[in-house]
Amino acid sequence: MPGFELFSDAERKEVHDVLDSGVLMRYGFDGMRNGHWKAKELERALEAQFDVKHTQLVSSGTAAVSVALAITGIGAGDEVIMPTFTFVASFEAIMMLGAIPVLVDIDDTLTLDPEAVRNAITPKTKAIMPVHMCGSMANLDAIKSICDEHNLILVEDACQAIGGTYKGKALGTIGDVGCFSFDFVKTMTCGEGGAIITNNSKYSLNADHYSDHGHDHVGSDRGAETHPFLGYNFRISELNAAVGLAQVRRLPEFLNIQKKHYNILREALADIPEVTFRTVPEGGVESCAFLNFFLPELGVAQKVMAGFKANGIDVCFHYYDNNWHYIRKWEHLKNLKSLYPISAEVKEGMKYLDTKTYEQSDHYIARNISCLIKMSWTAEEAKARASKMREVILASL
Ligand SMILES: *Cc1c(COP(=O)(O)O)cnc(C)c1O
Repeated sequence: MPGFELFSDAERKEVHDVLDSGVLMRYGFDGMRNGHWKAKELERALEAQFDVKHTQLVSSGTAAVSVALAITGIGAGDEVIMPTFTFVASFEAIMMLGAIPVLVDIDDTLTLDPEAVRNAITPKTKAIMPVHMCGSMANLDAIKSICDEHNLILVEDACQAIGGTYKGKALGTIGDVGCFSFDFVKTMTCGEGGAIITNNSKYSLNADHYSDHGHDHVGSDRGAETHPFLGYNFRISELNAAVGLAQVRRLPEFLNIQKKHYNILREALADIPEVTFRTVPEGGVESCAFLNFFLPELGVAQKVMAGFKANGIDVCFHYYDNNWHYIRKWEHLKNLKSLYPISAEVKEGMKYLDTKTYEQSDHYIARNISCLIKMSWTAEEAKARASKMREVILASL
């Protein structure tokens, strides 16, 4: 996945443009910037990449998710349905707004189970947020029709899924708003950065203002701009955008490499009867950022992970035993450990976490292993790795 593996003179040139002008801010300083508008250029490039009307760059993927919810009007006491398997950013972004994360089970897609979503809807539900973990998606038609039926906002967290598609459309463009991360380990990186994409011009304008202290960005005198509503600072810097601009131009090349290496790994494991792969919904195409497969049971998965470790097979994850990505280890969330007071409404809304169990999610996550697809491998390295993985799995069954 990580774009940093392939840094080149292209990234250096873009960064030097910014350093030479001295303007690190994405807005204003028109006379000093030698015509360089890296953030704006990157926004246009992403619109072309995704075939979407509007893009707003922000400071991180976490910021992108929080801004995406804010610009659609989600706030205090609203419930947002999200999966148990994601990154901690999902509930952070919801709670930042005083809203309530409602965690529901995943299915064999490793993403939201539409049936679990349906069962979690209450009068307070305002949005559904599928997370396209490891480059693949939920049954988005089913989730979209639940949204339509209940008048809910659909926010896609596509932070790990740049390049994936669903029924011919880029992931991130299926819902009302899509979110991307360009942090240091993502397929395309800015170092830190994120983006919100949408075809809704009102949401786009909201994002433009909200992510920059509510500035309306009318005219060229920043001091004279008005504030139609409250905002915060979620801006990206020109330095980060410059790195991303070089990376987005190389994205087709990155995605091709990912796919090639993914196929090498997958083919090596495909004829082992005990190995099954995650389900990709009809019409979906994975980004190939990871290869995810299931083993028959937890013990086998743990044995395989130990075997991978002993054989130098790195960057494979067993999320069941991992602190970042699965509810099982999120004690700080379950105990609402906050530095500052959390509202009584949110506390009440999250009480369900004291007792709720997630057997269905456990069933899939306990048996799943996820292998990051590196772009810096040569084809030979990918093949050697694939056959070593095959050996370890066969020896662990
Ligand atoms: C990386 C990631 C984020 C957050 O992105 P940051 O840029 O690191 O804040 C959110 N959701 C998912 C699924 C991610 O993988």
